[in-house]
Amino acid sequence: MTIARKGTGAFGRLVKELKRIPGIGTKSAERIAFHVVKLPDELAFALSDAIRHLKERVRPCAVCGNLSESNPCEICADEQRRGRALCVVEETNDLWAIESSGAFAGRYHVLGGALSPLDGVGPERLRIGELVQRIQEEAPEEIIVATNPTAEGEATAHYLACLLRPLGVRVTRIARGVPMGGDLEYADPVTMAKALQGRADV
Ligand SMILES: [Zn+2]
Repeated sequence: MTIARKGTGAFGRLVKELKRIPGIGTKSAERIAFHVVKLPDELAFALSDAIRHLKERVRPCAVCGNLSESNPCEICADEQRRGRALCVVEETNDLWAIESSGAFAGRYHVLGGALSPLDGVGPERLRIGELVQRIQEEAPEEIIVATNPTAEGEATAHYLACLLRPLGVRVTRIARGVPMGGDLEYADPVTMAKALQGRADV
């Protein structure tokens, strides 16, 4: 009989996979794996089914990069959002944070990260070429840069302002209602709405 030991066999395999998730270290991974072992079979299989279902269905929208089960996503398919402002965010969870504020009725563009030369993330690694193409095709009335208020997010905002202004489009940056060094994902809806309302030309 094989005894389930930490770090070996089926248990170790799950721990190894869980540790790939950002923010999950060995201790947390082991705690989750112990929890899964103790779950009734149907709940454990529901978890693995949910992961498979998600991976089979959710894809980045070909237009904006938002994660969605439809392509184009519901936001891009919404005619009422057409031709208005385009809000540029780093990741889909930032888009969700702005959507839940209810303060924005235009479309989005998800960059897929922020410029970070030290980590080898240059403009070509982000969906910036696609953004320029969209501006030319969709002619939005304004580009709201809502990258995170971190060093990388600020550098990305500056880069975008310099790149996009010559295209003749108004470029604004959300106000600092969001704390410096913070992440849009964690901003409450009221703070997010205020940051959008207080945006300024850049
Ligand atoms: Zn979309």
